Amino acid sequence: MKTYRIKPLLVGWFNMNWGGLIFPFAEGYFEDLPVFMFLIEGEDGEQIIVDGGYTYAPFTMTPIKKPELEVPFVLKKNGIDPDVIKTVVITHLHHDHAGHLRLFRNADYYIQEKELLEANYPLGPVAPGYCKEDWEDLVPRFKLLNGDFPLRDGIDLIHAPGHTAGLQAISVNTSKGRAIIFSDCCYLYAGLAKRFPAQFFELMSKAAASSKEPVDMQNPEVAAALDKVFSGRFGGYFGPNIINPEENMRSMQKLDLLADIVVPGHDPELVRMNVIPDKYDIEEI
Ligand SMILES: [Zn+2]
Repeated sequence: MKTYRIKPLLVGWFNMNWGGLIFPFAEGYFEDLPVFMFLIEGEDGEQIIVDGGYTYAPFTMTPIKKPELEVPFVLKKNGIDPDVIKTVVITHLHHDHAGHLRLFRNADYYIQEKELLEANYPLGPVAPGYCKEDWEDLVPRFKLLNGDFPLRDGIDLIHAPGHTAGLQAISVNTSKGRAIIFSDCCYLYAGLAKRFPAQFFELMSKAAASSKEPVDMQNPEVAAALDKVFSGRFGGYFGPNIINPEENMRSMQKLDLLADIVVPGHDPELVRMNVIPDKYDIEEI
């Protein structure tokens, strides 16, 4: 099977309430959250792009942009000529994933049909997450998928609903096993707490310290409550609080079982681990 490298491309930051990322924990904890596109690079030099960064500032968030994070600049710095790209995978159409898709003038776009439907007729509370102006003229070039799809030898697209109805993750064969790009099915390593407990407890401590009424993580009652959460059905998975948290949890579990290497959608660790698997060093149990 062919092997590939994954390069997370940092293209911006948001200041966010992290309580929305690992529901039901960390509510009220605000920190900057990175926005990524991904480059998948084959051993033969083929380049596949995942997602399109962001241009749009919805009223719920505060985008932080800098000239060195502008998408055309980031592509150039990483040796990517957008005109040469033939394949773009869209994990979902939220504004921070679809902003610069138009740059890839010669590409086909692989997306789940359900995602296109949802983006056209979004449920009320998440409607501001979509920005049709970013992509509606590209729809004739969309390759609409219905479920899992083998994109290449060594790359599979996996329908992983919950965050949105049509979110797809990407399975990529690397020299160190199967990497899964979770996209927003799992924003942070802390969301897979059963696998990355150190990340989870570090975030919980930061959230407790920033809260008006700090939670004492050493308190036996708190420990007992956490035990209950971890030992429940799908225990130890904490996803975003969005369209369908229960369905998202099933998707998280499915992807977690498949992954040798976890690539979440928005984890700051990916700024440092900018070539996967070469620089992948996050500690698991
Ligand atoms: Zn999203």
